[in-house]
Amino acid sequence: MYDIVGIESPDTLEAAIEMLSNNPNLKIIAGGTDVLVQMRNGALEEIALLSLRNIPGMADIRIMDNGTISIGAMATFAEIFRSSIINEHLPVLSEAAVSVGGPQIRNMATIGGNICNGAVSADSATTLFAYNAELKLLSREGERTVPIEEFYAGPGKVNLQPAEILTAILIPETGYRKTSGCYIKHSTRKAMDIAMLGVSVVCKTAGGKFTDVRIALGVAAPVPIRCREAEAYAIGKETSSEIIREIGRYAVRASRARDSWRASKAYREHLIEVLVFRALKEAVIRDGGEDIG
Ligand SMILES: Cc1cc2nc3c(=O)[nH]c(=O)nc-3n(C[C@H](O)[C@H](O)[C@H](O)COP(=O)(O)OP(=O)(O)OC[C@H]3O[C@@H](n4cnc5c(N)ncnc54)[C@H](O)[C@@H]3O)c2cc1C
Repeated sequence: MYDIVGIESPDTLEAAIEMLSNNPNLKIIAGGTDVLVQMRNGALEEIALLSLRNIPGMADIRIMDNGTISIGAMATFAEIFRSSIINEHLPVLSEAAVSVGGPQIRNMATIGGNICNGAVSADSATTLFAYNAELKLLSREGERTVPIEEFYAGPGKVNLQPAEILTAILIPETGYRKTSGCYIKHSTRKAMDIAMLGVSVVCKTAGGKFTDVRIALGVAAPVPIRCREAEAYAIGKETSSEIIREIGRYAVRASRARDSWRASKAYREHLIEVLVFRALKEAVIRDGGEDIG
């Protein structure tokens, strides 16, 4: 059932990179909640695993001197939603983390695995798009940092180079400081279900007007997306019900929803319009604005 031919558990990142470089067939395992399912389904056979579990510091969540928040790739969703740094500065990510699977999954599943698995439904991805997150990647060639939007290459595909490890997720201070926001996951069940649609909004307001709006959607296109036209339309506009409804309509135009067994294209588009409205309205209320109905 689990066709595992061996497992390496290095205790430094350097050793992990060395092992991956010398053996391109090694498969990285973090929490295993995607990898083991793929093995069980027969999608991965005769696999030699490389576990990141014994590498110290890879689950650290900290604020760096320049204000950037660094989330170690091995941080589990349980660690994320319990982190005081995340709850104070990135509450939308906390909301997304708590929506993942059930308690057992949240205790094992890591944010790095969620991103590297490349699923369009990944609950953390939309919120990281909305916070302008960057990914820190390490290989023998050195370290590189890429905006998360450039990392997603297609359904289940990410721009991870051979023998490369995602070490941390970085949220620059400009991405989160003085923002409000909201994550809404729409799924058939309240727990243990992946998103039919995920909507994450992050915004800033001043004097009853939007000064910054970022809207990210999951399962609205082959990869998570930002709704740039809707965001541009919102800037300088009042935080009124009419404007927010119009922003929801703009968001639909950014999507490339399709029919699937989970939902039809038309239903998904309806969800985008309604859920962007609800998420942005909630973000305005959380920012101290009035409930505009
Ligand atoms: C019952 C169940 C419910 C679930 N519910 C949800 C849900 O509600 N929302 C959701 O988004 N997901 C859900 N998932 C999917 C899964 O739990 C998440 O995607 C999880 O975050 C994967 O993390 P992991 O640590 O388990 O990754 P793993 O399975 O260990 O790895 C996933 C992939 O990422 C690669 N990888 C992992 N870490 C790194 C790294 N640091 N650098 C490079 N590559 C790496 C692995 O090689 C593999 O290809 C669910 C899964 C199950 C089984």
